[in-house]
Amino acid sequence: MSSENILKKYFDKTYTEIEFIKKTYEALRQLGFNNDNTIAGKCICRDEISQSIRSVIKHVWGEAFNFSSLAGMFFAGKTGLAAAMHHSPIADGRERYVFYAMPHIAINEEGRIGICKREGRAGESIACGALYAFQKEMASGRVNLTMDNEDVEQSLIRMRLLREIPYGHVPDLLELTKTTLKAIQADLETAISKVVDTGKSNYAVITGIQINGPDSNYVWPAACYAVVDGKQIQLKVE
Ligand SMILES: [Zn+2]
Repeated sequence: MSSENILKKYFDKTYTEIEFIKKTYEALRQLGFNNDNTIAGKCICRDEISQSIRSVIKHVWGEAFNFSSLAGMFFAGKTGLAAAMHHSPIADGRERYVFYAMPHIAINEEGRIGICKREGRAGESIACGALYAFQKEMASGRVNLTMDNEDVEQSLIRMRLLREIPYGHVPDLLELTKTTLKAIQADLETAISKVVDTGKSNYAVITGIQINGPDSNYVWPAACYAVVDGKQIQLKVE
């Protein structure tokens, strides 16, 4: 089966990372954002197989502010966002920001979810490993809900995602990844609502799921919108 057909089994619409970042750049350029007047931010997993999109964002927008945590969670919070909000160039009296935020999931050439290969290693590997570990814990019926100071990010993942999961329900990895996307977007938007002054700044929120496919990485787009002069505008990413 071709990669495209494998991805179609789970995701209605996917782009290569390069296509996706270029299309979002093009859509935002029409709203006055460009690589001279805008600073990008990214929130993706720490996994090295997720970093290809970071390189594409850098190529298109320049160096981006890094909000990333395990699983792509937005744990940088109001303080992290407030730091980034002092970094944009000021052009025509306005600041401009674009935020890319996404969890990730692997799909192998047989269409198996969560499975990938790692360079130089025989056998199968898992992505996202942090979400897989949490999913296994839920399936075991025992979830540690305390803050482990030697495992801060994973503790926060459990606490945050359990707020989104009905009591007693054990999602599979794909469902858990979609739940993670919802949490990341909600937390980013909450921080934006408290920190960003739309009287001074235009910004865009671009979310989705990064797919570590059999041959390359892809993006399934979710929210893609900009707020320009305080007004929300949907981006056409086609
Ligand atoms: Zn991961």
